[in-house]
Amino acid sequence: MTTPIVEMDGDEMTRILWQMIKDELILPYVDLKTEYYDLGLKHRNETNDQVTVDSAEATLKYGVAVKCATITPNAARVKEYDLKEMWKSPNGTIRAKLDGTVFRAPIIVKGINPCVRNWEKPITLARHAYGDVYKNAEIKVPGAGKAELVFTAEDGTVTKELIHEFKGPGIIQGIHNTIASITSFAYACFNYALETKQDLWFATKDTISKKYDHTFKDIFQDIYDNEYKDKFEKAGITYFYTLIDDAVARVMKEKGGFIWACKNYDGDVMSDMVSSAFGSLSMMTSVLVSPKGVFEYEAAHGTIQKHYYRYLEGEEPKSNPVATIFAWSGALKKRGELDGIKELTEFGERLEKAVIGTIESGVMTADLSRICSLSDVKTVNTKDFFKEIKSRL
Ligand code: NAP
Ligand code: MG
Repeated sequence: MTTPIVEMDGDEMTRILWQMIKDELILPYVDLKTEYYDLGLKHRNETNDQVTVDSAEATLKYGVAVKCATITPNAARVKEYDLKEMWKSPNGTIRAKLDGTVFRAPIIVKGINPCVRNWEKPITLARHAYGDVYKNAEIKVPGAGKAELVFTAEDGTVTKELIHEFKGPGIIQGIHNTIASITSFAYACFNYALETKQDLWFATKDTISKKYDHTFKDIFQDIYDNEYKDKFEKAGITYFYTLIDDAVARVMKEKGGFIWACKNYDGDVMSDMVSSAFGSLSMMTSVLVSPKGVFEYEAAHGTIQKHYYRYLEGEEPKSNPVATIFAWSGALKKRGELDGIKELTEFGERLEKAVIGTIESGVMTADLSRICSLSDVKTVNTKDFFKEIKSRL
Protein backbone atom coordinates (compact mmCIF):
# COMPACT_ATOMS: atom_id res chain seq x y z
CA MET A 1 0.00 0.00 0.00
CA THR A 2 1.12 3.54 -0.67
CA THR A 3 -1.60 5.67 0.93
CA PRO A 4 -3.05 4.76 4.33
CA ILE A 5 -6.69 3.91 4.95
CA VAL A 6 -8.25 5.85 7.81
CA GLU A 7 -9.09 3.21 10.41
CA MET A 8 -11.87 4.14 12.85
CA ASP A 9 -12.06 1.60 15.65
CA GLY A 10 -15.30 1.29 17.61
CA ASP A 11 -17.18 -0.32 20.47
CA GLU A 12 -18.38 -3.51 22.14
CA MET A 13 -18.78 -6.72 20.10
CA THR A 14 -17.84 -5.11 16.81
CA ARG A 15 -14.56 -3.90 18.37
CA ILE A 16 -13.75 -7.55 19.16
CA LEU A 17 -14.71 -8.60 15.62
CA TRP A 18 -12.59 -5.74 14.24
CA GLN A 19 -9.40 -7.08 15.83
CA MET A 20 -10.19 -10.65 14.76
CA ILE A 21 -10.72 -9.54 11.16
CA LYS A 22 -7.41 -7.71 11.09
CA ASP A 23 -5.47 -10.53 12.77
CA GLU A 24 -7.00 -13.41 10.84
CA LEU A 25 -7.93 -12.08 7.42
CA ILE A 26 -5.88 -9.01 6.60
CA LEU A 27 -2.53 -8.65 8.36
CA PRO A 28 -1.21 -12.08 7.22
CA TYR A 29 -1.80 -11.14 3.58
CA VAL A 30 -1.64 -7.36 3.21
CA ASP A 31 1.18 -4.95 3.96
CA LEU A 32 -1.47 -2.86 5.67
CA LYS A 33 -1.05 0.88 6.10
CA THR A 34 -3.67 2.61 8.23
CA GLU A 35 -3.90 5.82 10.17
CA TYR A 36 -5.57 4.62 13.35
CA TYR A 37 -8.27 6.56 15.23
CA ASP A 38 -9.83 5.03 18.32
CA LEU A 39 -13.51 6.01 18.21
CA GLY A 40 -14.30 3.69 21.11
CA LEU A 41 -16.53 5.61 23.54
CA LYS A 42 -13.89 5.68 26.27
CA HIS A 43 -11.39 7.41 24.02
CA ARG A 44 -13.99 9.76 22.55
CA ASN A 45 -14.74 10.84 26.09
CA GLU A 46 -11.05 11.28 26.95
CA THR A 47 -10.52 13.49 23.90
CA ASN A 48 -13.80 15.43 24.30
CA ASP A 49 -14.83 13.81 21.00
CA GLN A 50 -11.95 15.53 19.17
CA VAL A 51 -10.86 12.11 17.87
CA THR A 52 -14.08 11.84 15.82
CA VAL A 53 -13.47 15.22 14.20
CA ASP A 54 -9.82 14.30 13.55
CA SER A 55 -10.80 11.01 11.92
CA ALA A 56 -13.25 12.80 9.61
CA GLU A 57 -10.57 15.32 8.66
CA ALA A 58 -8.12 12.51 7.96
CA THR A 59 -10.75 10.95 5.69
CA LEU A 60 -10.95 14.18 3.71
CA LYS A 61 -7.16 14.09 3.41
CA TYR A 62 -6.68 10.44 2.39
CA GLY A 63 -10.02 9.71 0.69
CA VAL A 64 -10.85 6.26 2.11
CA ALA A 65 -11.94 5.23 5.60
CA VAL A 66 -13.20 2.06 7.26
CA LYS A 67 -15.31 2.44 10.37
CA CYS A 68 -16.28 0.03 13.13
CA ALA A 69 -19.74 0.41 14.70
CA THR A 70 -19.77 2.87 17.59
CA ILE A 71 -22.06 3.59 20.52
CA THR A 72 -24.27 6.65 20.15
CA PRO A 73 -24.50 7.78 23.78
CA ASN A 74 -27.86 8.04 25.55
CA ALA A 75 -28.57 8.55 29.27
CA ALA A 76 -27.79 4.90 30.09
CA ARG A 77 -24.42 5.09 28.30
CA VAL A 78 -23.49 8.31 30.09
CA LYS A 79 -23.79 6.37 33.33
CA GLU A 80 -22.22 3.14 32.04
CA TYR A 81 -19.11 4.94 30.72
CA ASP A 82 -19.11 7.81 33.22
CA LEU A 83 -19.15 10.31 30.33
CA LYS A 84 -18.35 14.01 30.69
CA GLU A 85 -21.13 14.77 28.19
CA MET A 86 -23.68 12.96 26.06
CA TRP A 87 -21.43 13.07 22.98
CA LYS A 88 -23.13 13.28 19.61
CA SER A 89 -23.46 10.36 17.21
CA PRO A 90 -20.05 9.87 15.55
CA ASN A 91 -21.81 9.00 12.31
CA GLY A 92 -23.63 12.32 12.42
CA THR A 93 -20.40 14.22 13.07
CA ILE A 94 -18.57 12.42 10.27
CA ARG A 95 -21.50 12.80 7.84
CA ALA A 96 -21.67 16.54 8.52
CA LYS A 97 -17.93 16.93 7.79
CA LEU A 98 -17.96 14.83 4.62
CA ASP A 99 -21.36 16.12 3.41
CA GLY A 100 -22.21 12.63 2.34
CA THR A 101 -25.03 10.37 1.26
CA VAL A 102 -25.34 6.89 2.76
CA PHE A 103 -25.69 3.94 0.39
CA ARG A 104 -26.81 0.63 1.89
CA ALA A 105 -26.81 -2.66 0.02
CA PRO A 106 -27.39 -6.28 1.09
CA ILE A 107 -24.78 -8.99 0.47
CA ILE A 108 -26.54 -11.66 -1.56
CA VAL A 109 -25.73 -15.35 -0.97
CA LYS A 110 -27.42 -18.55 -2.15
CA GLY A 111 -29.50 -20.06 0.63
CA ILE A 112 -30.48 -16.77 2.24
CA ASN A 113 -33.53 -15.93 0.21
CA PRO A 114 -35.26 -12.55 0.07
CA CYS A 115 -38.90 -12.55 1.17
CA VAL A 116 -39.68 -11.01 -2.21
CA ARG A 117 -39.17 -13.99 -4.51
CA ASN A 118 -38.20 -12.06 -7.64
CA TRP A 119 -35.41 -10.06 -5.98
CA GLU A 120 -32.28 -11.63 -7.45
CA LYS A 121 -29.84 -8.76 -7.22
CA PRO A 122 -29.22 -6.28 -4.41
CA ILE A 123 -31.29 -3.13 -4.12
CA THR A 124 -29.12 -0.25 -2.91
CA LEU A 125 -30.88 2.36 -0.82
CA ALA A 126 -29.50 5.91 -1.04
CA ARG A 127 -30.80 8.00 1.83
CA HIS A 128 -30.61 11.77 1.91
CA ALA A 129 -29.37 12.36 5.44
CA TYR A 130 -30.30 16.00 6.03
CA GLY A 131 -33.44 17.90 6.99
CA ASP A 132 -37.17 17.33 6.44
CA VAL A 133 -38.95 15.84 9.43
CA TYR A 134 -35.61 15.16 11.21
CA LYS A 135 -35.09 18.89 11.71
CA ASN A 136 -38.67 19.97 12.24
CA ALA A 137 -40.49 22.54 14.35
CA GLU A 138 -43.83 21.48 15.80
CA ILE A 139 -46.67 23.11 17.68
CA LYS A 140 -49.65 21.54 19.42
CA VAL A 141 -52.48 23.90 18.56
CA PRO A 142 -54.65 24.35 21.67
CA GLY A 143 -57.76 25.71 19.96
CA ALA A 144 -59.22 27.94 17.25
CA GLY A 145 -56.80 30.27 15.46
CA LYS A 146 -54.81 30.89 12.30
CA ALA A 147 -51.59 29.02 11.43
CA GLU A 148 -49.22 30.59 8.90
CA LEU A 149 -45.82 29.92 7.36
CA VAL A 150 -43.71 33.07 7.67
CA PHE A 151 -40.36 33.72 5.98
CA THR A 152 -38.50 36.92 6.84
CA ALA A 153 -35.69 37.66 4.41
CA GLU A 154 -32.44 39.33 5.54
CA ASP A 155 -33.67 42.63 4.07
CA GLY A 156 -36.85 42.37 6.13
CA THR A 157 -39.22 41.32 3.33
CA VAL A 158 -41.91 39.02 4.67
CA THR A 159 -43.56 36.16 2.75
CA LYS A 160 -46.61 34.49 4.29
CA GLU A 161 -48.63 31.42 3.43
CA LEU A 162 -51.76 30.32 5.22
CA ILE A 163 -51.50 26.79 6.61
CA HIS A 164 -54.93 26.44 8.18
CA GLU A 165 -57.72 28.33 9.94
CA PHE A 166 -58.25 26.18 13.00
CA LYS A 167 -61.78 25.92 14.37
CA GLY A 168 -60.58 23.74 17.22
CA PRO A 169 -57.39 22.05 18.55
CA GLY A 170 -54.87 20.48 16.16
CA ILE A 171 -51.20 20.11 15.30
CA ILE A 172 -48.77 21.84 12.92
CA GLN A 173 -45.27 21.09 11.71
CA GLY A 174 -42.63 23.09 9.86
CA ILE A 175 -39.84 21.36 7.90
CA HIS A 176 -37.07 22.57 5.63
CA ASN A 177 -34.24 21.57 3.34
CA THR A 178 -31.52 23.48 1.53
CA ILE A 179 -30.64 23.66 -2.17
CA ALA A 180 -27.01 22.98 -1.25
CA SER A 181 -27.85 19.76 0.57
CA ILE A 182 -30.26 18.46 -2.09
CA THR A 183 -27.69 19.26 -4.78
CA SER A 184 -24.92 17.32 -3.08
CA PHE A 185 -27.36 14.42 -2.51
CA ALA A 186 -28.08 14.39 -6.24
CA TYR A 187 -24.37 14.44 -7.19
CA ALA A 188 -23.60 11.62 -4.76
CA CYS A 189 -26.38 9.50 -6.29
CA PHE A 190 -25.41 10.13 -9.93
CA ASN A 191 -21.72 9.48 -9.20
CA TYR A 192 -22.47 6.29 -7.29
CA ALA A 193 -24.71 5.02 -10.09
CA LEU A 194 -21.90 5.58 -12.61
CA GLU A 195 -19.33 4.05 -10.33
CA THR A 196 -21.36 0.88 -9.69
CA LYS A 197 -22.97 0.80 -13.17
CA GLN A 198 -26.50 0.55 -11.83
CA ASP A 199 -29.71 2.33 -12.83
CA LEU A 200 -30.79 5.11 -10.51
CA TRP A 201 -34.37 5.57 -9.30
CA PHE A 202 -35.60 8.63 -7.47
CA ALA A 203 -39.10 9.22 -6.17
CA THR A 204 -40.93 11.89 -4.19
CA LYS A 205 -44.54 13.08 -3.85
CA ASP A 206 -44.20 16.04 -6.22
CA THR A 207 -47.84 15.90 -7.38
CA ILE A 208 -49.00 16.80 -3.88
CA SER A 209 -46.00 18.83 -2.72
CA LYS A 210 -45.68 21.16 -5.68
CA LYS A 211 -42.88 23.32 -4.25
CA TYR A 212 -41.08 21.20 -1.64
CA ASP A 213 -40.88 17.77 -3.24
CA HIS A 214 -40.97 19.27 -6.70
CA THR A 215 -37.72 21.11 -5.93
CA PHE A 216 -36.03 17.77 -5.23
CA LYS A 217 -37.33 16.44 -8.55
CA ASP A 218 -36.22 19.55 -10.48
CA ILE A 219 -32.72 19.61 -8.99
CA PHE A 220 -32.14 15.96 -9.86
CA GLN A 221 -33.51 16.47 -13.39
CA ASP A 222 -31.42 19.60 -14.08
CA ILE A 223 -28.20 18.01 -12.93
CA TYR A 224 -28.98 14.86 -14.89
CA ASP A 225 -29.81 16.66 -18.12
CA ASN A 226 -26.83 19.01 -17.95
CA GLU A 227 -24.09 16.80 -16.58
CA TYR A 228 -24.92 13.10 -16.55
CA LYS A 229 -27.17 12.20 -19.49
CA ASP A 230 -24.28 11.42 -21.85
CA LYS A 231 -22.26 9.64 -19.20
CA PHE A 232 -25.23 7.45 -18.25
CA GLU A 233 -25.93 6.59 -21.90
CA LYS A 234 -22.28 5.64 -22.40
CA ALA A 235 -22.36 3.46 -19.30
CA GLY A 236 -25.63 1.83 -20.45
CA ILE A 237 -27.56 2.86 -17.36
CA THR A 238 -30.68 4.98 -16.87
CA TYR A 239 -32.01 7.60 -14.50
CA PHE A 240 -35.68 7.17 -13.72
CA TYR A 241 -37.98 9.47 -11.75
CA THR A 242 -41.41 8.45 -10.56
CA LEU A 243 -43.88 9.07 -7.75
CA ILE A 244 -43.00 7.44 -4.44
CA ASP A 245 -46.18 5.31 -4.42
CA ASP A 246 -45.44 4.12 -7.94
CA ALA A 247 -41.84 3.36 -6.90
CA VAL A 248 -42.83 1.12 -3.97
CA ALA A 249 -45.18 -0.85 -6.21
CA ARG A 250 -42.55 -1.27 -8.94
CA VAL A 251 -39.77 -2.26 -6.54
CA MET A 252 -41.79 -5.35 -5.57
CA LYS A 253 -41.94 -6.54 -9.17
CA GLU A 254 -38.33 -5.87 -10.20
CA LYS A 255 -35.32 -8.17 -10.07
CA GLY A 256 -33.16 -5.68 -8.16
CA GLY A 257 -29.75 -4.45 -9.27
CA PHE A 258 -30.53 -0.72 -9.02
CA ILE A 259 -30.10 2.22 -6.67
CA TRP A 260 -33.19 3.68 -5.05
CA ALA A 261 -32.62 7.25 -3.90
CA CYS A 262 -34.97 8.37 -1.15
CA LYS A 263 -35.70 11.53 0.76
CA ASN A 264 -34.71 11.37 4.42
CA TYR A 265 -37.88 9.84 5.88
CA ASP A 266 -38.55 7.52 2.94
CA GLY A 267 -34.95 6.32 3.17
CA ASP A 268 -35.19 5.68 6.90
CA VAL A 269 -38.28 3.53 6.52
CA MET A 270 -37.47 1.86 3.21
CA SER A 271 -33.90 0.88 4.13
CA ASP A 272 -35.17 -1.05 7.16
CA MET A 273 -37.83 -2.72 5.04
CA VAL A 274 -35.46 -3.60 2.20
CA SER A 275 -32.72 -4.93 4.50
CA SER A 276 -35.15 -7.08 6.51
CA ALA A 277 -36.71 -8.41 3.31
CA PHE A 278 -33.26 -9.43 2.03
CA GLY A 279 -32.63 -11.53 5.13
CA SER A 280 -30.49 -10.06 7.87
CA LEU A 281 -29.03 -6.85 9.25
CA SER A 282 -25.71 -8.63 9.65
CA MET A 283 -25.47 -8.86 5.85
CA MET A 284 -26.01 -5.15 5.08
CA THR A 285 -23.12 -3.02 3.92
CA SER A 286 -23.05 0.73 4.15
CA VAL A 287 -20.86 3.33 2.49
CA LEU A 288 -20.87 7.07 2.96
CA VAL A 289 -20.07 8.73 -0.36
CA SER A 290 -19.16 12.38 -0.34
CA PRO A 291 -19.43 14.71 -3.34
CA LYS A 292 -15.82 15.60 -2.46
CA GLY A 293 -14.83 12.14 -3.75
CA VAL A 294 -14.33 10.59 -0.34
CA PHE A 295 -15.55 7.15 0.83
CA GLU A 296 -16.22 5.75 4.29
CA TYR A 297 -17.12 2.06 4.58
CA GLU A 298 -18.93 0.42 7.48
CA ALA A 299 -21.45 -2.24 8.46
CA ALA A 300 -25.09 -1.14 8.71
CA HIS A 301 -25.63 -2.78 12.12
CA GLY A 302 -24.63 -1.45 15.53
CA THR A 303 -22.21 -2.68 18.19
CA ILE A 304 -24.30 -5.82 18.99
CA GLN A 305 -24.53 -4.93 22.66
CA LYS A 306 -26.31 -8.09 23.86
CA HIS A 307 -23.66 -10.36 22.35
CA TYR A 308 -20.93 -8.24 23.96
CA TYR A 309 -22.36 -8.62 27.46
CA ARG A 310 -22.49 -12.38 26.94
CA TYR A 311 -18.89 -12.26 25.68
CA LEU A 312 -17.84 -10.41 28.86
CA GLU A 313 -19.39 -13.25 30.86
CA GLY A 314 -17.07 -15.67 29.07
CA GLU A 315 -19.09 -16.78 26.06
CA GLU A 316 -17.21 -17.45 22.79
CA PRO A 317 -18.00 -14.78 20.12
CA LYS A 318 -20.86 -16.00 17.92
CA SER A 319 -21.71 -12.82 16.02
CA ASN A 320 -21.67 -12.59 12.26
CA PRO A 321 -18.64 -10.59 11.05
CA VAL A 322 -19.65 -10.48 7.36
CA ALA A 323 -20.79 -6.85 7.05
CA THR A 324 -17.67 -5.66 8.91
CA ILE A 325 -15.40 -7.82 6.72
CA PHE A 326 -17.07 -6.26 3.67
CA ALA A 327 -16.41 -2.80 5.10
CA TRP A 328 -12.70 -3.71 5.13
CA SER A 329 -12.75 -5.34 1.69
CA GLY A 330 -14.64 -2.35 0.29
CA ALA A 331 -12.06 0.07 1.67
CA LEU A 332 -9.12 -2.05 0.43
CA LYS A 333 -10.64 -2.36 -3.05
CA LYS A 334 -11.25 1.39 -3.24
CA ARG A 335 -7.73 2.18 -1.99
CA GLY A 336 -6.29 -0.19 -4.62
CA GLU A 337 -8.40 1.42 -7.32
CA LEU A 338 -7.45 5.00 -6.38
CA ASP A 339 -3.75 4.19 -6.03
CA GLY A 340 -3.54 1.85 -9.02
CA ILE A 341 -2.55 -1.17 -6.90
CA LYS A 342 -4.19 -4.07 -8.68
CA GLU A 343 -3.14 -6.67 -6.11
CA LEU A 344 -4.90 -4.81 -3.34
CA THR A 345 -8.18 -4.59 -5.25
CA GLU A 346 -7.90 -8.26 -6.17
CA PHE A 347 -7.27 -9.19 -2.56
CA GLY A 348 -10.49 -7.39 -1.54
CA GLU A 349 -12.38 -9.31 -4.21
CA ARG A 350 -10.88 -12.65 -3.13
CA LEU A 351 -11.77 -11.97 0.49
CA GLU A 352 -15.41 -11.32 -0.45
CA LYS A 353 -15.48 -14.45 -2.60
CA ALA A 354 -14.08 -16.53 0.26
CA VAL A 355 -16.76 -15.22 2.63
CA ILE A 356 -19.62 -15.87 0.20
CA GLY A 357 -18.18 -19.28 -0.73
CA THR A 358 -18.03 -20.25 2.95
CA ILE A 359 -21.70 -19.42 3.53
CA GLU A 360 -22.81 -21.04 0.28
CA SER A 361 -20.96 -24.22 1.29
CA GLY A 362 -23.28 -24.32 4.32
CA VAL A 363 -20.96 -22.97 7.04
CA MET A 364 -22.36 -19.90 8.82
CA THR A 365 -23.10 -18.17 12.11
CA ALA A 366 -26.38 -18.74 13.97
CA ASP A 367 -28.16 -15.61 12.75
CA LEU A 368 -27.94 -16.96 9.18
CA SER A 369 -28.44 -20.69 9.79
CA ARG A 370 -31.80 -19.79 11.40
CA ILE A 371 -33.08 -18.44 8.07
CA CYS A 372 -31.02 -20.53 5.62
CA SER A 373 -32.75 -22.76 3.06
CA LEU A 374 -29.70 -24.96 2.25
CA SER A 375 -30.20 -28.60 3.24
CA ASP A 376 -26.83 -29.17 4.90
CA VAL A 377 -26.01 -26.35 7.29
CA LYS A 378 -23.26 -26.21 9.92
CA THR A 379 -23.60 -23.48 12.56
CA VAL A 380 -20.24 -22.19 13.79
CA ASN A 381 -18.96 -19.52 16.17
CA THR A 382 -17.04 -16.52 14.88
CA LYS A 383 -13.61 -18.12 15.33
CA ASP A 384 -14.49 -21.24 13.34
CA PHE A 385 -16.18 -19.10 10.71
CA PHE A 386 -12.87 -17.24 10.27
CA LYS A 387 -11.02 -20.58 9.98
CA GLU A 388 -13.30 -21.62 7.10
CA ILE A 389 -12.90 -18.30 5.33
CA LYS A 390 -9.12 -18.50 5.76
CA SER A 391 -8.89 -21.96 4.27
CA ARG A 392 -10.81 -20.75 1.20
CA LEU A 393 -8.81 -17.54 0.98
P1 NAP B 1 -27.35 -3.80 16.78
O1 NAP B 1 -25.93 -3.79 17.12
O2 NAP B 1 -27.71 -3.45 15.37
O3 NAP B 1 -27.94 -5.23 17.14
C1 NAP B 1 -29.31 -5.51 17.30
C2 NAP B 1 -29.56 -7.02 17.20
O4 NAP B 1 -29.43 -7.42 15.86
C3 NAP B 1 -28.53 -7.85 17.97
O5 NAP B 1 -28.90 -7.99 19.31
C4 NAP B 1 -28.59 -9.14 17.18
O6 NAP B 1 -29.78 -9.89 17.46
C5 NAP B 1 -28.74 -8.65 15.75
N1 NAP B 1 -27.45 -8.40 15.08
C6 NAP B 1 -26.99 -7.22 14.61
N2 NAP B 1 -25.81 -7.38 14.03
C7 NAP B 1 -25.49 -8.69 14.12
C8 NAP B 1 -24.37 -9.47 13.71
N3 NAP B 1 -23.33 -8.92 13.09
N4 NAP B 1 -24.36 -10.79 14.00
C9 NAP B 1 -25.40 -11.35 14.64
N5 NAP B 1 -26.48 -10.67 15.03
C10 NAP B 1 -26.53 -9.35 14.79
O7 NAP B 1 -28.16 -2.82 17.71
P2 NAP B 1 -28.06 -2.64 19.31
O8 NAP B 1 -27.34 -3.79 19.92
O9 NAP B 1 -29.42 -2.34 19.74
O10 NAP B 1 -27.21 -1.32 19.41
C11 NAP B 1 -26.00 -1.29 20.08
C12 NAP B 1 -25.32 0.04 19.87
O11 NAP B 1 -25.04 0.23 18.51
C13 NAP B 1 -26.11 1.24 20.32
O12 NAP B 1 -25.38 1.92 21.34
C14 NAP B 1 -26.22 2.13 19.09
O13 NAP B 1 -25.99 3.46 19.40
C15 NAP B 1 -25.14 1.60 18.20
N6 NAP B 1 -25.37 1.72 16.74
C16 NAP B 1 -24.30 2.11 15.99
C17 NAP B 1 -24.39 2.17 14.62
C18 NAP B 1 -23.18 2.60 13.84
O14 NAP B 1 -22.15 2.87 14.39
N7 NAP B 1 -23.27 2.66 12.53
C19 NAP B 1 -25.58 1.81 13.99
C20 NAP B 1 -26.65 1.39 14.78
C21 NAP B 1 -26.53 1.34 16.15
P3 NAP B 1 -29.87 -11.08 18.55
O15 NAP B 1 -29.60 -10.42 19.89
O16 NAP B 1 -31.27 -11.53 18.38
O17 NAP B 1 -28.84 -12.11 18.22
MG1 MG C 1 -34.75 3.41 10.64
